[in-house]
Amino acid sequence: MPARILDGTKIASDIRCEVAVEVKTMAAAGVRPGLAVILAGHNPASEIYVRGKVKACEEVGIYGEQHTPPETATTAELLALVEDLNRRDEIDGILVQLPLPPQMDSKRILMAVDPAKDVDGFHPVNVGFLSTQRPGLVPCTPAGVIEILERSHVPIAGQEAVVVGRSDIVGKPVAMLLLNANATVTVCHSKTRDLPEVCRRADILVAAIGRAGMITGDFVKPGATVIDVGTDRVTDAAVFQRLFGGTLYKNAKREETFRTKGSTLVGDVHPEVAEVAGGLTPVPGGVGPLTIAMLMYNTVKAAKMRRGSRMPALSRA
Ligand code: NDP
Repeated sequence: MPARILDGTKIASDIRCEVAVEVKTMAAAGVRPGLAVILAGHNPASEIYVRGKVKACEEVGIYGEQHTPPETATTAELLALVEDLNRRDEIDGILVQLPLPPQMDSKRILMAVDPAKDVDGFHPVNVGFLSTQRPGLVPCTPAGVIEILERSHVPIAGQEAVVVGRSDIVGKPVAMLLLNANATVTVCHSKTRDLPEVCRRADILVAAIGRAGMITGDFVKPGATVIDVGTDRVTDAAVFQRLFGGTLYKNAKREETFRTKGSTLVGDVHPEVAEVAGGLTPVPGGVGPLTIAMLMYNTVKAAKMRRGSRMPALSRA
């Protein structure tokens, strides 16, 4: 039986609705959460992401503002902007869109964001809160992975979870969240020996690698839940053929997109995994939509925490 498809678009939409309700409640108390996004220089992909974030703010009732320092701006100028946003009381969340132009010291700029306003959850103070299970701001995409699992009623406690990828922004925080939820967690990376065998132990397999379709059916225990964080743009016809060439996985809509646009968005998980897994997130429409929904959640959470109240945990809300 093919895997149950875990619909990230629907889950993200539910979360946005819950956040909008929370924003309304806060408005009645005279508080409007505010998010400032810094987009330095010109990067077409970043511009699309930022537009999506600002639009999402409008939809849930969060105040959103965008800052666009020029490509030639210096680290000192960015630091001054962050300091100004740190001081402004009506700004609860500060998001520095990465990558920054090369002359800017990204680490220094991210470190300058007030941890209480660090809605990306990348500041070492928030990383420390996460690893010691204290209330803080959790990175959006990893938090979204947990929301998908919980809202799809996939048990986590006591389960074997394998995370492929150990980046600071996805792999490590996902592993920490699964551990905090009482899974037995293994983290894999490019030096892991016999990766398919390790992955086959997983009840929950999370792929955050950045390699199109690398996780094939032989990596997956029958019935396992597979979460595909990968967002990989395929432009090579041979790679497209490897993923969607088999008669089982032919996808007319994808073929049309690939033919007309010359590219298509895929995940790290090969389509054949749908024949082995018990549950699977699609790409697009799986983890991706959760990232912005959790950014909205984090902004409201930051607004509440800064004012001394707690945001309800979404999946239990
Ligand atoms: P990174 O490149 O920072 O990390 C990739 C990880 O995968 C590394 O830990 C690397 O190991 C590991 N890896 C690479 N090749 C292999 C291999 N052959 N076998 C085992 N492990 C391997 O990527 P990110 O964590 O930033 O992103 C991962 C994916 O998630 C990307 O496709 C990205 O686009 C996507 N993404 C999606 C988001 C969303 O949906 N909103 C948000 C963020 C990311 P090592 O450490 O040894 O090099």
